[in-house]
Amino acid sequence: MDKKQPKREETKVIHAGPDPDPLYGGVSTPIYQSSTFSFRSGDQGAARFAGEDSGFIYTRLGNPTTRALEQCVAELEGGYDALGTSSGMAAISTALLGCLDRGDHVVGTDAVYGPTRGFAEKHLTRFGIESSWVPTERIESIREAIRPNTRMLFIETPANPTIKLTDLEACGRIAKECGALLVVDNTFSSPVLQKPLRFGADVVLHSMTKYLNGHSDVVAGILIARDQEIHARLQAMLQNLGGTMDPHQAWLVLRGVRSLALRVEKAQENAGRLAAWLVEHPKIAWVSYPGMPSHPQHELMKKQMAGPGAMISFGVRGGYEAAKRTIDEVRLAVLAVSLGGLETLIEHPASMTHTCLPRAEREEAGITDDLVRLSVGCEGFEDLRDDLEQALAKVPEVSGSPTAGGR
Ligand SMILES: *Cc1c(COP(=O)(O)O)cnc(C)c1O
Repeated sequence: MDKKQPKREETKVIHAGPDPDPLYGGVSTPIYQSSTFSFRSGDQGAARFAGEDSGFIYTRLGNPTTRALEQCVAELEGGYDALGTSSGMAAISTALLGCLDRGDHVVGTDAVYGPTRGFAEKHLTRFGIESSWVPTERIESIREAIRPNTRMLFIETPANPTIKLTDLEACGRIAKECGALLVVDNTFSSPVLQKPLRFGADVVLHSMTKYLNGHSDVVAGILIARDQEIHARLQAMLQNLGGTMDPHQAWLVLRGVRSLALRVEKAQENAGRLAAWLVEHPKIAWVSYPGMPSHPQHELMKKQMAGPGAMISFGVRGGYEAAKRTIDEVRLAVLAVSLGGLETLIEHPASMTHTCLPRAEREEAGITDDLVRLSVGCEGFEDLRDDLEQALAKVPEVSGSPTAGGR
């Protein structure tokens, strides 16, 4: 078997990318902590600037450690190439500014990562780029929002924090029909669970701060392009905006990626068991987890994902106060935003990550006051269950219907 063509995801994450150290054979990629790279001669320098010599010039334009990570993640997503960025938001702003022109229009998922929508509505508008944010889990809502100047569909699936799914294959078809690019934020799934390029995406992006790194110690992002032309457009924008990745950051993510499949497998198993337990709990009003057959898009999950992932959102009976009490009372789960780390994190989107949305829009997107978001980690299931049990025991009882449902 060719070493670089393994079939299993758990093998790929360990071996993807170039050989780590062609110089000494180090098993781990060296950190090239250098801002600039010397030329042997003036001719070589000129050749590098002309793109005729493939060596490195300056770390904002490219760095060997960052390059190793870009090749690794491009392989995992099945893309033409990738660009490491200083954060997930740097990847998002680069994609939007790099692929859109004045007068263009974007249709996006209403429950996207808050600052994505904030950037479009507060800043892109200043450059004459308009956007519509709609419930893309209903494909008709996308068709209804399309205008003659729509040039991009920006999809996040599963969406944050409602855990609703959007049909990627249908989006790929619509994008093709109207000559728009399909951009997918794949942060919640990671390439181990979902590969949007297979369904017609043109650009896939990640906040690698989350699952790809997985250790809650790095902020980083990446853009993966379907083809050379899109890659070149994104690269030109990134090099000018300057949101480039740092080599030490790249090295930490390279280390994190090697355990991605193991982490996702364990966290997903915990999430499945916790969702099943939560849905039976008398203090819980509803649970959204695409691994449950009651999730309205359980079948879509099976079609486009290799597994439901480890993000759960649930409603606590009693609304805002009950949700706040729950997050205050947990002892093991860490009260923090972000996700995708080894430790379980808990947060309250309506008062934290999604406050940039006006209340009406937030509620319309399903981000209700009772919603608690859980990024399930890799602890022992029983410890996580016991922690939530003791926290929910402190939430005052509310009279009403006793059975929770899916959502
Ligand atoms: C965190 C996150 C981002 C932003 O990434 P940063 O690394 O914090 O800049 C974008 N999209 C999703 C889905 C996220 O969860």
